[in-house]
Amino acid sequence: MPVPLLDLRPQLAPLRAEILAAIAEVLDSTAYILGPRVASLESAMQAYCATPAAIGVSSGTDALLSALMALEVGPGDLVLTSPYSFFAATGSILRLGARPVFVDIDPQSYNLDPDGLQDFFTRRPAETARVKACLPVHLYGQSADMARILPLCAEHGIPVVEDAAQAIGARCPLGPAARRAAEAAMSTTAPGGDFAVAADWHRVGSMGLVGCFSFFPSKNLGGIGDGGMVVCRDQELAAKIRTLRMHGGTSRYHHDLLGGNFRLDPIQAAVLEIKLRHLPGWHLARRRNAERYRQLFTSSGLVAEGAVSLPVAVYQREAVAAGIADFHVYNQFVVRVRQRDELRTSLHQAGIGCEIYYPVPLHQQGCVAKLGYNQEVFPEAERAARETLALPIYPELTEEMQQEVVRAIRAFYRHS
Ligand SMILES: *Cc1c(COP(=O)(O)O)cnc(C)c1O
Repeated sequence: MPVPLLDLRPQLAPLRAEILAAIAEVLDSTAYILGPRVASLESAMQAYCATPAAIGVSSGTDALLSALMALEVGPGDLVLTSPYSFFAATGSILRLGARPVFVDIDPQSYNLDPDGLQDFFTRRPAETARVKACLPVHLYGQSADMARILPLCAEHGIPVVEDAAQAIGARCPLGPAARRAAEAAMSTTAPGGDFAVAADWHRVGSMGLVGCFSFFPSKNLGGIGDGGMVVCRDQELAAKIRTLRMHGGTSRYHHDLLGGNFRLDPIQAAVLEIKLRHLPGWHLARRRNAERYRQLFTSSGLVAEGAVSLPVAVYQREAVAAGIADFHVYNQFVVRVRQRDELRTSLHQAGIGCEIYYPVPLHQQGCVAKLGYNQEVFPEAERAARETLALPIYPELTEEMQQEVVRAIRAFYRHS
């Protein structure tokens, strides 16, 4: 039985009629640029993330780019980020003429390591003074350690921009120190903050000053094309991003800021608003699938033999004790494996979808390396790039399909 890495058809089938009707409504409205559908999705995202502002944009990449533009990141500035992620954040930093400064990842979560961040601030004070923003990524569906990242950045007055493209809805526990730091950072770096960080478990995107989402079809909330969203805890900054989205025009044909065309399409917004209602159920199904894999892999003996290391849901125990569901939203189920490249070939031959996210760490990408910025090594990012493999985890995956995946991996290690 072939098992695809991702199949969007079973998700579409039950929603197809509703989605077609929503598309027809946009078509007949002739409101083809922004308009009520985009505003409505913005309100829904604002409520879902519990943030005071949301701005629909053209992609996750443009969410990052416009957020950094609003913070006036430019030539000579440094932006701290992860060396192990999709290219969009690093690309946006470079496009603005700024320099990405990488901090290695934590090998358990694959997210930016707060110890590395602390070490950077301690050992490189001159560079710290030039840091314009810190851009952690919530990779694979789980939040970075914001309880530590927020206070560390706040100490240095550095605003935090979250790349939440892979983790919409995921929650992170913030202790009182992080909450205070988040509030303090907001008032010192961006006056006009009006959002008191309240309860303990926060959704990604809502903890830093700005959060960036992608609606690329393979994300947990995916459109039928490109789309993105910026959420923001500061109304002034949000207004600036809205302006940047329309070529920096505060009124028509008057351009005070240099922006771009970063608008979200209303057809995408209409589809996404329908899908957003199903997101909690899809998250639940992804977590159920993750638990099934854990049982299947454990009983296969592959974990005990050290052939396969399962992903670590770092907040799971604490969340379950607190009755919190979305501690991980499993955009990807990523295992570390022995003989990764051979296993991947063997699975593909068996008709089983799997992919390497990401084979080349960002500091080693051609267009980054040739700038000569980052001569350091980032051992954990490099090891992750060599050892990890993403397996199918989409909500509609059946138990039989998961058994097939584990059987194929079991067979590979028996023969190798
Ligand atoms: C998908 C993704 C993006 C970019 O989103 P697009 O909508 O494709 O531009 C940015 N960051 C991460 C971590 C992503 O996974």
